[in-house]
Amino acid sequence: VPSTLLHHNRPYSTAYSAIPSEEIPTSKPVFIRELVANASDALEKQRQFELSGCASSDGLGNGEGGELAIRVWCDAGKRQLVVEDSGIGMTYEELNDHLGTIAKSGTLKYIQDAKEGSAKSNLIGSFGIGFYSALMVGEEIRVYTKSRKDGKGYMWKTSGQGGYEIAEADVSNAGTKIVIQLREDAMQFTEKALVNNFVSFPIYLNGERVNQVEPLWIKEKSEITGDELREFYRKLSGDYKDPLAELVYKIDSPLNVRSILYVPNSSPFEQLYSKEGEIELYSRRVLIKSKCDGLLPAWMRFVRGVVDCEDVQLNISRELLQNNGVMLRIKEILTRRILKWFSDLASSERVKYEGIFESFNHYFKEGICTDEVNREKIKEILLFKSTKSESYTTLEEYKSRMSAEQKAIYFMVVPDKTVALESPYMEPFNKLGYEVLLMHDENIDKIMVSSLQSYKGLPIEDVEEAKIDVPVEEECENSLSREEVEIMCEWFKETFKADKVASVKETKRYTTHPAIVVNHGEILKNKMMMKQLGMDI
Ligand code: ADP
Repeated sequence: VPSTLLHHNRPYSTAYSAIPSEEIPTSKPVFIRELVANASDALEKQRQFELSGCASSDGLGNGEGGELAIRVWCDAGKRQLVVEDSGIGMTYEELNDHLGTIAKSGTLKYIQDAKEGSAKSNLIGSFGIGFYSALMVGEEIRVYTKSRKDGKGYMWKTSGQGGYEIAEADVSNAGTKIVIQLREDAMQFTEKALVNNFVSFPIYLNGERVNQVEPLWIKEKSEITGDELREFYRKLSGDYKDPLAELVYKIDSPLNVRSILYVPNSSPFEQLYSKEGEIELYSRRVLIKSKCDGLLPAWMRFVRGVVDCEDVQLNISRELLQNNGVMLRIKEILTRRILKWFSDLASSERVKYEGIFESFNHYFKEGICTDEVNREKIKEILLFKSTKSESYTTLEEYKSRMSAEQKAIYFMVVPDKTVALESPYMEPFNKLGYEVLLMHDENIDKIMVSSLQSYKGLPIEDVEEAKIDVPVEEECENSLSREEVEIMCEWFKETFKADKVASVKETKRYTTHPAIVVNHGEILKNKMMMKQLGMDI
């Protein structure tokens, strides 16, 4: 029972009071995951607090060694769901700031996105809307909390009608207890199956332990089943689809690394433009940082998973994680292993690898452009369509099919294979029997090829610009004379002017096409230069 009423019906920010629950489009069960994740964060903060030596004796009823755990209670009779943690708790200010101010939790943006009805709204599984998701299922929510910092207890209450109250309260244990009075239509969400977060703290449902705390990555590789790996992925990512590939990787030297890595089924569109990593970094099972960037090269950010490394200090500050020697070594080790993982898949599980490449090719191509250190290795795992292969080919496979006199690898950026096969540019290559790689993405492929340049000493050349010797056919009787050829070239030059053609030359390469434009790129570059110089074109 609140002893003093501190606020009566204090209004939420307008955005909060304006959330009709039906506007939140997707799966309601998400809310338990959100609350358990918050509880886990609070426990993690408490663990760090204890590690830092600030909590030698909290005197708040839990005492050191008191179990850091999450307790969920479902009471169908009372239509109540309770999520309780023995974590860090919240002070009065924190209660106000974190639960009262919607803008602080990033929820506002989510709701705006959801309202737009855009594709983003189905991303709730990946991002969530935090504490407020409880409003989707609750007609009244009470939060009892006692902070480890000051030992004062409070109760926060809302009926979801656009206001909240905070009052002092007698809270026996430090931590937070959230009591949700469920709406009638929300009873189904009290099911056991919903408490399946991956958290490294014990979870009890109505007094019974429901999760295994021994993290999967600590187990021997041979003891981990495929089902466990997929289940772990679901908990880790919130993704309901199975990953495309899994890798359990452990080493004891030069560093002690335990890791489980996944290639997800797909990546959220936004991920392509974010630089955030999806790796959780642990040290001796203690979470150091979720979404740890810097552990892998940026282009590998679609890889999800956990990495536990004993050599990372538990109390390392977040800032020090960047440019830290151990981190750089982990990065090197993991990168090498992931590249090998992909190249093994490319040679022994080709169909699977093609699926991965189709989903994430933009990232691989970004890698070619940005990851100089690993560029040669990434070249090995690129896949291309080509004039001679039905599905995909690697550069190595292309090379193995080359005839002795072929001196380069050729490619064409073209919308699709049919257009490529009918293209006049193919004529000399067909004549010589040379294979041509086909790239279908005007934007990224054009950028990538400028970094691709060569493969094992072989230049990689655009068919438009390639210098190849084509066997010249016998001249026929009514060929143009040298003089006539010159007159014609002059006529072309004058007619098209310098901004359209740089030069006009006679060629014997083509027999079925009267004329062909080559070096588009050069012309475009010239045009741009002329524009920059203020020349009228
Ligand atoms: P997010 O978790 O994304 O920050 P939420 O709306 O879920 O957003 O929560 C807002 C904040 O409220 C959290 O960042 C945290 O500071 C605080 N909070 C929520 N639940 C708890 C809890 N069980 N214990 C302590 N603090 C909590």
